[in-house]
Amino acid sequence: MTASRRRAVVVGAGIAGLGAALRLHQAGWEVVVAERTPSRRSGGYAVTFAGVGYDAAERMGILPELTERHITPDRMDYVRPDGRTRFSVPGPTVRAMVGDRSLNLLRGDIEDVLYQEVSRADTVQIRFGTTVAGIEQDTDGVDVTLDDGTVERADLLVGADGLHSATRRLVFGAEDDLRLDLNHMAGVFTLDTLPDGVEPGVTASLTDTGRTLAIVSLGGERAVAFFGYRTERPMDELADGPQVALPRAYADMGWVAPTVLEQLGGAESVYFDTISQMVVDRWSRGRVVLLGDAAWCVTLFAGFGSSLAVGGADALGAALERHADVPTALQAWEAEIRPEAERKQKLGRQVKGLYAPADPFRLWLRDLPLRLASYRPVSALLQRRLQLTS
Ligand SMILES: Cc1cc2nc3c(=O)[nH]c(=O)nc-3n(C[C@H](O)[C@H](O)[C@H](O)COP(=O)(O)OP(=O)(O)OC[C@H]3O[C@@H](n4cnc5c(N)ncnc54)[C@H](O)[C@@H]3O)c2cc1C
Repeated sequence: MTASRRRAVVVGAGIAGLGAALRLHQAGWEVVVAERTPSRRSGGYAVTFAGVGYDAAERMGILPELTERHITPDRMDYVRPDGRTRFSVPGPTVRAMVGDRSLNLLRGDIEDVLYQEVSRADTVQIRFGTTVAGIEQDTDGVDVTLDDGTVERADLLVGADGLHSATRRLVFGAEDDLRLDLNHMAGVFTLDTLPDGVEPGVTASLTDTGRTLAIVSLGGERAVAFFGYRTERPMDELADGPQVALPRAYADMGWVAPTVLEQLGGAESVYFDTISQMVVDRWSRGRVVLLGDAAWCVTLFAGFGSSLAVGGADALGAALERHADVPTALQAWEAEIRPEAERKQKLGRQVKGLYAPADPFRLWLRDLPLRLASYRPVSALLQRRLQLTS
């Protein structure tokens, strides 16, 4: 370590935080990461990783490792409440629909790849079981008080602590004033036993009025159960928690819902949150910057959150390489990344009605492109197009 190395504190070791730690290390910075949980999270839900994140992963040198973790469903089945298949889209067609510069990954696998890279960096230290308790900045630096009593003096503080960011609350204002709820909830947990009727390697889903349940098979008996449903009172649902809210919303759904819900109590970790965006007029204040869901949270409706987290981290590192003055670098970074993040936020708001459609007609409309893709001639055409572009 050299005496002149610049120092950053990153709050949160999710995709955005680990991405920032890696990119800042590559830019020659020393980094302390404070992560609230006592150890690393694993698993999580499956995400499509494309666009700015894919390009950034290539530049950051992690694309080969991410590509190794890519999971392709053999087939996507859209089912009825009695379990019969309405229609299926073959795996190669799904692949053709998302394009060739795109990966299907578990959120935990993206974090894992970033974590492995960061662990090899001698200038990055990760402190688990630690959060931020106070932030004070002056013209020369920022003092970050952690809840273990230490005070870290740094040139930069990155708040990558997700939708309910403490960094944002301490510097930018109360969450309630900045959060735009899209009136849906998402719940995800890993299954140890594949429900009867769902084949290994297949992603199967049922959508009825206002709710979706999807089972994403990871091969063998392992699978992820994903719940997404409409609600007028997202914060009340959040307060009730998954053990109360998910059975209340899904007990009468049919298909595999009852057997999947039986695994909820014993699940290792359950993700359960509102589907909300953050509307923050500026993502930096002096030397404090927000990144990832803490800053924008485009939501799963837009489907680019992990991609923007990695792309945003890469752009942040590049801006700090270009501009010696930290506040100037943060403003340049925001000017570059905000248009894309706002485009994805807008997309998220536009498609939210399609996710768990409120009535059968909207469901039929939503499924039309997928139904078309399930027809053999269309399917073959899409697959041929992929072969031509790859
Ligand atoms: C069901 C679902 C499906 C999705 N699908 C896609 C998709 O297809 N494509 C896509 O690109 N994106 C998708 N996303 C979005 C994507 O997963 C997120 O945008 C991305 O993971 C955000 O990463 P993050 O690091 O900003 O936040 P987070 O993942 O929330 O990480 C924040 C980290 O900070 C830690 N933390 C929180 N508070 C504190 C604190 N006070 N102190 C210290 N640490 C703290 C947390 O423990 C966590 O480790 C999906 C999201 C969901 C929920």
